[in-house]
Amino acid sequence: MGFGKTRRTLFHARCTKIRTVMFKLSKKLQALPEYLFLEIDKAKRQARAQGRDIIDLGIGDPDQPTPKHIVEALYQAALEPANHRYALDQGMPVLRRSIAAWYKQRFKVSLNPDSQILPLIGSKEGLAHFPLAFLNPGDYSLVPDPCYPPYKGGTILAGGLPYLMPLIEKNAFLPDLKKIPLSARKKAKIIFVNYPNNPTSATADKNFYKELIDFAHKNKVIIISDLAYSEMCYDGYRAQSILEFDGAREVAIEFHSLSKTYNMTGWRVGWACGNEKLIAALAKVKSNIDSGIFSAVQLAGIAALSGPQEHIEHMCTLYQERRDVLMHGLDSLGWQLNCPKATFYVWIKVPKGKDSIKFSGRLLEKANIVVTPGVGFGKFGEGYIRMALTVNKERIREALDRLKHI
Ligand SMILES: *Cc1c(COP(=O)(O)O)cnc(C)c1O
Repeated sequence: MGFGKTRRTLFHARCTKIRTVMFKLSKKLQALPEYLFLEIDKAKRQARAQGRDIIDLGIGDPDQPTPKHIVEALYQAALEPANHRYALDQGMPVLRRSIAAWYKQRFKVSLNPDSQILPLIGSKEGLAHFPLAFLNPGDYSLVPDPCYPPYKGGTILAGGLPYLMPLIEKNAFLPDLKKIPLSARKKAKIIFVNYPNNPTSATADKNFYKELIDFAHKNKVIIISDLAYSEMCYDGYRAQSILEFDGAREVAIEFHSLSKTYNMTGWRVGWACGNEKLIAALAKVKSNIDSGIFSAVQLAGIAALSGPQEHIEHMCTLYQERRDVLMHGLDSLGWQLNCPKATFYVWIKVPKGKDSIKFSGRLLEKANIVVTPGVGFGKFGEGYIRMALTVNKERIREALDRLKHI
């Protein structure tokens, strides 16, 4: 028996060793940044399991449902057997045409639906796949920091290297393009920008886009502009498309999403638009990876873009009211913050001497409030936390009340 056990143990050890080699992650996967939200996620789950009443301001996901007429369009389309088959990789022509019409109406920019628009399975996949089309090993992506994680992830998975552009308060959370050294410009193939911005909620003005387009032409760098929050604006502010500016069509691709605009995060519909060569390159990457968006979801997307648009105004009013309650409350507690003109995030300085993970942990421990530590979006996010306006006013008031006592 002892002998058998030893043999089994040896065999087991050998298998473990083989598996260690077999399951060794690729260099690219190992190079991906750590998932820093893990700790907070775990703490949140534990707190919930203990029955604590958690107010979750950590999630960038609308709490309101998708408008009914869109859900109805999905239901009707799902009943139709023709919609059950593989969709076209490049999206239904009728979806591309309604994107073009929406775009024209919203930004006064004309797009050719056949060559300048590519529907995506949510804009995240497009943003993450785009670097595969243009980066060779060792090439740089110019990436803002803090940022939406797929910009870095997509770059690394494509074999490229993210070159960080700090987004700091002194520069109104815009990258300082003049500070990017010549050596980095030479290696850079693409530059990511995202205004209105997640996580800082900053917006960009005309001058920034003009300077950026000029930079792209001079340095032969492709601009990727992520406009996921174009419709979530307050106080009369309206976000612009980069394609409204002269010279942008030659160098830029813009990413849009139905996720935030129509409360459709789970549905997975977005699109890229802009320069034809950039669109064709992304389409080629995607044709090797996915097989398009479920046709019924595409038809629901058309219902969103071409149907009644009152929802957007209601949505903005809702978030604006929540923002005002939160701003007013935090202000009277003496917290340091900038009032956002767009997005559903508030970017808040943590008190002196505290790091963002420790401070987030403390808010969970003492007040049962979940926030996102800024460092989770990159090292220049350290010193900040992000709160999302995705709970109702009563819960925000409750959160403010709890914060008085920490
Ligand atoms: C939410 C978000 C998106 C949208 O992603 P989808 O994949 O379309 O749901 C894109 N960019 C940023 C910065 C976001 O915060």
